[in-house]
Amino acid sequence: MEKSRKQKSSHKKKLGAISPAPNIGVGVVSGFKASQSVKFVVDGMLGSLARKLRILGFDVIYSRDADDQYLHDLSVKEKRVLLTSDRALHYYASKRGTSSIFILEDSDEKRLAYLFTALGLKEVDLDPEESRCAKCNGEIETCSKKELIGIIPSSVLQRHNKFYRCTSCGKTYWKGSHWRRIILLTRRLKVRLKKAGRANRNEKAEAT
Ligand SMILES: [Zn+2]
Repeated sequence: MEKSRKQKSSHKKKLGAISPAPNIGVGVVSGFKASQSVKFVVDGMLGSLARKLRILGFDVIYSRDADDQYLHDLSVKEKRVLLTSDRALHYYASKRGTSSIFILEDSDEKRLAYLFTALGLKEVDLDPEESRCAKCNGEIETCSKKELIGIIPSSVLQRHNKFYRCTSCGKTYWKGSHWRRIILLTRRLKVRLKKAGRANRNEKAEAT
């Protein structure tokens, strides 16, 4: 923990050296090359976005307490796109050519729409077997009802037939109300992406 505090204080100094941060607009992308197999590292202010990205199957490192220098260095080391709503961190990353996307939208739906558009991702795939654990980013496997007797409430076991478990932390999942909310979110997201795609095509048509 001591090391972590030291890292944080040295990072504050580093960021201070390039302050004040410029007025970067919402969603400026820097140093990014679009890829379907994109991995992320997400800053502490975007926790709910990180969880949703994991459910959508993306590999996402997120820690509420991780300091900015750690996030930046992990982005470089593991070739992860840094998602941040910290203007100074985004600027710091931009200056070094690190893949970073600055996100300021006010809802996860808008954030996801912006992010997918910025990455050139046109489809939203929601498949529980491809999801990652929302809690720890572990991979998900299916598991039988038998294995879960005594672990999750019997009422849940009676109501559902398919169950999933994180191979890392053991958290169990089933398609309950949370899953239905995620389905609705992905439907709205698809609509937003279609609109963004149309707007993009219109812009290009006008420019030619
Ligand atoms: Zn897990």
